[in-house]
Amino acid sequence: MASTLGLLQWDAEIVMPRGGVKHRGEQMALLAGLVHDRSTDPRIAELLGDVEGSPLASDPESPEAVNVRELRREFDRETKLPRMLVEEMARVHAMSSQAWSEARDNDDFKSFAPWLDKTFALTREKADAIGYKGVRYDALLDDYEQGMTTEQLSALFAELGPQLVPLVDSLRGRPMPQKLRSRAFPVDQQRIFAESIATKLGFNLDGGRFDDGPHPFCSTIGSGDVRIASRYRTNSVDSGFLGVIHETGHALYEQGLDPAHYGTPMGEAVSLGIHESQSRMWENLVGRTHGFWLHFYPQLQSEFKEQLHDVAIDEFRAIMNHSEPGLIRVEADEVTYNLHIVIRFELERALLAGDLHANDLPSAWSELYQRYLGITPDNDRFGCLQDIHWSEGLIGYFPTYSLGNVYSAQLFEAAERAVGPLEESFAAGEFGSLREWLRENIHRHGKRYPAPALIERVTGNPPNPSALIASLFRRYRVG
Ligand code: ZN
Repeated sequence: MASTLGLLQWDAEIVMPRGGVKHRGEQMALLAGLVHDRSTDPRIAELLGDVEGSPLASDPESPEAVNVRELRREFDRETKLPRMLVEEMARVHAMSSQAWSEARDNDDFKSFAPWLDKTFALTREKADAIGYKGVRYDALLDDYEQGMTTEQLSALFAELGPQLVPLVDSLRGRPMPQKLRSRAFPVDQQRIFAESIATKLGFNLDGGRFDDGPHPFCSTIGSGDVRIASRYRTNSVDSGFLGVIHETGHALYEQGLDPAHYGTPMGEAVSLGIHESQSRMWENLVGRTHGFWLHFYPQLQSEFKEQLHDVAIDEFRAIMNHSEPGLIRVEADEVTYNLHIVIRFELERALLAGDLHANDLPSAWSELYQRYLGITPDNDRFGCLQDIHWSEGLIGYFPTYSLGNVYSAQLFEAAERAVGPLEESFAAGEFGSLREWLRENIHRHGKRYPAPALIERVTGNPPNPSALIASLFRRYRVG
């Protein structure tokens, strides 16, 4: 039933006309309520009581034990949320995201501010209903990155942020190769090429499809139905490809889950951070490398003869690996990206705590952008109105993007220790060894281990930014 909500959401983004938003909000509120009723049915408690402590669940790593543990956790969490609150959140989020979209289009933050206050108020109610040991934000984090705490995350960002600022500064203002910006790359041709990359990396079209969307995303509707939405721009040849490679990383994870466990926690992705580690790895540590383009660039060049005949592979990669502080998170390069998250992590904790009110968000936003990236937005459209997350009540979600970067570097190091240098195999058009290593070590485990434990088990170290910092310095340091 929850996957039906996913389908309605997918439809709202890809197919639905604007006029459908109010009715869709009602549909989603109804379904969210039904999902809530079913997942809080007292019979679940009885059934869980029957199997908890049974010999079947005695080995804590067995699929049975993992499913019982996770179903208990979900049940306890759901039963703490009053149905009225669940429905109210679904209704407000549907309308608030519409208000956000109009406010962004009109650069009119004032019209969105009341919705933002409302969303944070509901989020406080939600966190308090769920309960938490340390701080309120822990209750939210637990939704997206079970096992991670605000304290651990603050420590991780406190190490990552200050180390990145000087690297970002050292790259500031370096000339960007301009040659390709004036050339047009027909979207239809880009689409064909991007889809051929995705299938070469292992995306299985018997259980998946591609669509054009307002932004790139990957959506799983059910077992055997994983959908990639992508967006191409005529004047940019790299962003569409990198977007598809990123979503392919998400899709490979979904397709790598054990279908025998579909519909149970053992057949579900462990966390958003681990999910993002898969997409970031394929995008940054595979799709931006020299080896990768040694394989694909000759094909790309022959596909786009007119546009690329005088562009050498190194020149093409220089465009793709250019780093410069910008205002927009989703357009940020991999060096500056994490600073966008450090900023949002600070702001959403302040908004949640009530230390910051929506009306003061634009000025707080500018101040932090100045501090971390040395730039400030001229308007809210390119400032605090750029992300949809808060309007949908996704609070505690942003850090998982950076965790994805952190985990991806840790996992890539571990993969190379196990299977040898990977870039050489990419150059030979061979991506199976990395994909199969991920399948074996990450995908097939579903929710067996919470994310921090999984990272420690696979890499030998708890989540920490050292591998990411080393990787970025190695690849981007000047001179
Ligand atoms: Zn992603």
